[in-house]
Amino acid sequence: MYASSEINIGNTSLGGNSPVRIQSMTTTKTMDTVATVNQVANLAKAGCDFVRITTQNINEANNLKVIKEELGKIGIYIPLIADVHFIPKIAELAAQFVEKVRINPGNYIDSQSSISEKLIPLLSVCKKHNTAIRIGVNHGSLSETILYKYGNTALGMVESLMEFVRVCKKHNFNKLVLSVKASNVVMMIDANKLLVEKLLIEGLNYPIHLGVTEAGSEDEGRVKSASGIGYLLAHGIGDTIRVSLSEDPVAEIPVAKMLVDFYGKRLDIAKRIPHELIRVAIKFFSGKPPLVLTSGMSELADYSNHNESINLDIGKKKYGISKLVYHNLSIEELIIRATVDATILLLNNETDGIWIENNSSTTDDQNAKLSLEILQVLGLRISKTEFIACPTCGRSSVVLVDLLQEVKKQTSHIRGLKIAVMGCSVNGPGEMADADYGMVGTGNGNVDLYKGRKLIHKNIKQEQSIDALINLIKNSGDWKNK
Ligand code: SF4
Repeated sequence: MYASSEINIGNTSLGGNSPVRIQSMTTTKTMDTVATVNQVANLAKAGCDFVRITTQNINEANNLKVIKEELGKIGIYIPLIADVHFIPKIAELAAQFVEKVRINPGNYIDSQSSISEKLIPLLSVCKKHNTAIRIGVNHGSLSETILYKYGNTALGMVESLMEFVRVCKKHNFNKLVLSVKASNVVMMIDANKLLVEKLLIEGLNYPIHLGVTEAGSEDEGRVKSASGIGYLLAHGIGDTIRVSLSEDPVAEIPVAKMLVDFYGKRLDIAKRIPHELIRVAIKFFSGKPPLVLTSGMSELADYSNHNESINLDIGKKKYGISKLVYHNLSIEELIIRATVDATILLLNNETDGIWIENNSSTTDDQNAKLSLEILQVLGLRISKTEFIACPTCGRSSVVLVDLLQEVKKQTSHIRGLKIAVMGCSVNGPGEMADADYGMVGTGNGNVDLYKGRKLIHKNIKQEQSIDALINLIKNSGDWKNK
């Protein structure tokens, strides 16, 4: 992987040639020791290498110690990461009990203080306790100063992170992990490539953590994560990964494992591409959406091709289509493999469309649906509603999985809209970034309703929120009947 510096985190060692590690995050309340210990244990048994726990206040920071002790009593020794956003004192306390502390530069300092003032006390505690720090920038929570200087851009994300890295370096603190995450896959890929470039220019080398934030659930969440994380792993970038799904966090682990198995071991390129890849590179014709082909009939595909040709003459134009041929993969494996392979070809402008074949293990409809999903997450062709949903954590104040399901049921036919469903108002409004409409949990099962970044309705009961959302979409002129 990219980083070669050694970093010891608990009983594991990252960097060099060690395999990419998997991280997840608890969704329980941190003060609920029993539930949190159970969830951490389940994640560890599923193959997770580190678990992050939300840490919002002094009580929760202290409870990390208790959680660690309880895990020890049942023989679970897994590195824990405290997720701290706003208050440096909490990070300094948590750093005494866990292997790593994650801080978010966008939330960590205020306009009155310098980065050094806030960061140096944490560096001292971490040095004393041999604790690592992840500097984790999210696209949706850049500071006002960074937004003013660089805008809400990949460069802004990287600069926000580098300000903190330089302070750490100056104070001889190198036990760092870096991340730049976004819910937009292309933005996330761009930011990570830019980060690597910056590190190389400045002669620095730290492990990089990868993730697509607010990826949502089901196939959409898996395709978004596989596209962003898989593309970067296949290019040798990334040392730890987190697949964020708005589901039980244990469901994240098999997806992450597949990504690590297929792309996280610096595989020979021949093993990374599909079992069989037939490609004719012809100039990409901008302005025409990438095409979707299947071998048999599918209403979702643009063409069904019986003659096995991969060059299409349509009107006066020629299209070169990549045919990705897999052999009897399960649908779960196909989602990961085809997504990463197609992402590489599409982002490198090497194909005018996708044609997925998997013998008869998946249907033509499934293959076409997956192709459209891949094109949508890359912003190349919009065929349905996009859902941005957080994976929830101990901060969540709504039953997000149920709410998201219901929102999907009612609105997934409105092509082109982006709808966000977020668990809390601390990070939700910022991190749903460019959604057209958003629902954000505010406590006691209530939600706030947003149009873009504007708050429209405050504290609606969760049961009434779907109707309120539909009315808002209708009143704004964006509704379409099924
Ligand atoms: S939006 Fe809030 S509840 Fe959702 S993952 Fe982020 S911090 Fe947790």
